[in-house]
Amino acid sequence: MADLLVVGSVALDSVETPFGKVREALGGSATYFSYSASFFTQVRLVATVGEDFPESHLRLLENRGVDIGGLQTSKGRTFRWTGEYGYDLNEAKTLDTQLNVFADFRPVLGDGLGRVPYLFLANIDPELQLDVLRQMKERPRLVALDTMNFWIQGKRDALRRVLAEVDVLTINDGEARQLASEPNLIRAARAISAMGPRTVIVKRGEYGALLMTEGTLFFVPAFPLDSVYDPTGAGDTFAGGFMGYLAAQDRIDAVAMRRAIVYGSVMASFTVEDFSLKRLTRLTPAEIAERYTAFHDLIRVEP
Ligand code: AMP
Repeated sequence: MADLLVVGSVALDSVETPFGKVREALGGSATYFSYSASFFTQVRLVATVGEDFPESHLRLLENRGVDIGGLQTSKGRTFRWTGEYGYDLNEAKTLDTQLNVFADFRPVLGDGLGRVPYLFLANIDPELQLDVLRQMKERPRLVALDTMNFWIQGKRDALRRVLAEVDVLTINDGEARQLASEPNLIRAARAISAMGPRTVIVKRGEYGALLMTEGTLFFVPAFPLDSVYDPTGAGDTFAGGFMGYLAAQDRIDAVAMRRAIVYGSVMASFTVEDFSLKRLTRLTPAEIAERYTAFHDLIRVEP
């Protein structure tokens, strides 16, 4: 079992879906990722929050065994994101992004963090992602990255620089098209792979996830659910299951990647069943194992 380092956002999210809303609930790419990955391996979190960040949220991560030694409290307000979804839950509409303490955050990798073998650069300013990658004392065995439209539009050059150095990119379908300037998803994935990442994982919300490694394709559907309340964090939770499984196994071969995609989909399928991290905080390892089996039953053709 290997350790897993993540840098990304820790946030207070205000979200409205057709099924309800929350104000200033716990969110952030690194939060969902760490919570999800903590079911598989030791996670070390690097991020910042403001002085207004509730202690209880920190306890939640600590209680899952997440190492929050690299989570700095800075002067100012915590990162805030406001978004909404219509009946099509696949696309979030961002209403407001307040970087707050992330605007001048400089991550510092203390305490042996520079030698952690699995690294996830969760959705955050690509310059911060690059900064963390530069501080690694040893090249990690696997570096994966996630991003979104906000950074594709706002920091394309920095994003291209960090993309050139990572092994895996996880990205939404719409954002893959935007990044590659290419409407066809397969061609978009291929074009993105040419920018650096050997493996591109395109997240397609309720339509599943597509993995492309050097031209080879693998696809898993999303788990069919009859109660989806809030898709926020599904992508990061997916990445947490994916990277958490690989780090736990300490394997990055093709079979491990395929299993990891299924674990990612399993974890994401829980997140969307409630707002914020609520469903994840009730989750048990037995439920993860059960849904992993159910997933196999769903896609198996031969008895
Ligand atoms: P997803 O897994 O793609 O649904 O990501 C949802 C999380 O991304 C939310 O909890 C937000 O706090 C976070 N988020 C939204 N916009 C940004 C941004 N520009 N940078 C970093 N994190 C963000």
